[in-house]
Amino acid sequence: MMLQQCRTCRRFQHYPRVLCTGCGGSELHDVPAAGTGTVDSFTVVHRAETPYTLARVRLTEGPIVLTHLIDVADPRCDQPVRLVPGREPPVFRSDDGL
Ligand SMILES: [Zn+2]
Repeated sequence: MMLQQCRTCRRFQHYPRVLCTGCGGSELHDVPAAGTGTVDSFTVVHRAETPYTLARVRLTEGPIVLTHLIDVADPRCDQPVRLVPGREPPVFRSDDGL
């Protein structure tokens, strides 16, 4: 998973944009995300054939991504999560074994 970083103010952003959302600068470059974050909020969708968890994850670098949580039996806010390698679009799983 890649993030954009501003060369002027060093702020990260996701999804990619033409200008920095922090300072308006245009010198942006792509950097790999650490792949870690915490659950900001979530909802379990039960109306699907197989229930799934939709979550807002705040990445360690700061940006928030809308994603799915997998293999998380009892999701909670502030739960540490980690990016699952090789999945596109990106999904996250628990990083604390819960
Ligand atoms: Zn900036």
